[in-house]
Amino acid sequence: MAVTAQAIPMLSDNYSWLLTEAVTGKIGIVDPAEAAPAIAVLEEAGLKLDIIFLTHHHPDHVGGAEELRAHYGAKIVGNQADAHRLPALDVPVYEGAMVEFGVANARVIEVPGHTQGHIAYYFADGGLLCAGDTLFSMGCGRLFEGTAEQMFNSFGKFADLPDETLLCCGHEYTQANARFALSVEPDNEALRARAEEVDRLRAQGLATLPVSLGVERATNPFLRARSAEEFGARRRAKDNF
Ligand code: ZN
Ligand code: FE
Repeated sequence: MAVTAQAIPMLSDNYSWLLTEAVTGKIGIVDPAEAAPAIAVLEEAGLKLDIIFLTHHHPDHVGGAEELRAHYGAKIVGNQADAHRLPALDVPVYEGAMVEFGVANARVIEVPGHTQGHIAYYFADGGLLCAGDTLFSMGCGRLFEGTAEQMFNSFGKFADLPDETLLCCGHEYTQANARFALSVEPDNEALRARAEEVDRLRAQGLATLPVSLGVERATNPFLRARSAEEFGARRRAKDNF
């Protein structure tokens, strides 16, 4: 496992993910909302930052990127199609691009829905999917710019990733998502077990992430939707839940 991930809490419920490539010691961060919490974690561990991966342009995902680049001379990676509304990109990327990260690579997956220019990063060596605000544990991002069909198709691009893949997403929304998920599938045993686990973790103030795609495939009502229509109906129901 070359690449491992650690959640850094930011703002009220955001997670930025600190990535370590164990062979070369390269350090990356995904979606730094703020610079200070990242600098604190890096300094505590005696580390420097090499690369900043951005999933989409929302301020709670890019807010700390410029300051971290200035502080460490790190490179910023983001979707070239959204360059006009992201911090200046050192590494503009697109569907299928491979971003070198030490001996590992991040594969770029375009996942429009939450925003049109949203991308995810898949690290095969380490089995990590950094999905921003596309896929949450038992939930998914709001459709601010895209359609239900686009988001449904975006989820389809995750279908060939292994069950063991660890989902590293942008927010700790899991407990609220579980309540909605249980309203959709009250008799889903895996979902009930996961909801109980999440309640225990949150009662202890612990993160519910990362979570495996296998667990999400068994519990997430959005990932389990069989059609764009069903997905759309569930998303609308969640908006009003
Ligand atoms: Zn967002
Ligand atoms: Fe967000």
